[in-house]
Amino acid sequence: MSREIIEVRTSRRVEFIDITSEVEEVVSRMGVDEGAVNVFTMHTTTAIIVNENESGLLRDLEELMEKLVPRGGGYAHDRGFEGNADAHLRSILLGPSKLIPIQGGRLQLGTWQRIFFAEFDGPRNRKAVAQVLREK
Ligand code: ZN
Repeated sequence: MSREIIEVRTSRRVEFIDITSEVEEVVSRMGVDEGAVNVFTMHTTTAIIVNENESGLLRDLEELMEKLVPRGGGYAHDRGFEGNADAHLRSILLGPSKLIPIQGGRLQLGTWQRIFFAEFDGPRNRKAVAQVLREK
């Protein structure tokens, strides 16, 4: 057993949820000393990002996404579908996974680095896979 599902319940259409402690718990339960953990979202309208948990920055990121990929921007996917093309495109831009090193049994993150589940088409119940790649 080298993987666990992290369940994430989102409460807004666009939301960034800090899942660092959940990933730390998985690494701790696996008893891995050195290696890496891959965190992968199983959805097409979400992403995994690593950055600072500061409310102003998260608001800036939300505004950047709205500028780069505005909702209802005349996308082909919005014709006859759920109208969530912006969420898919934001997911593609930010990517579905991040690989985080593990050293001495702990996530090797910088002081201000946190792992976020990025929701772009919530609120929904979501799943991310945390898979440990063990060196020893
Ligand atoms: Zn869609």
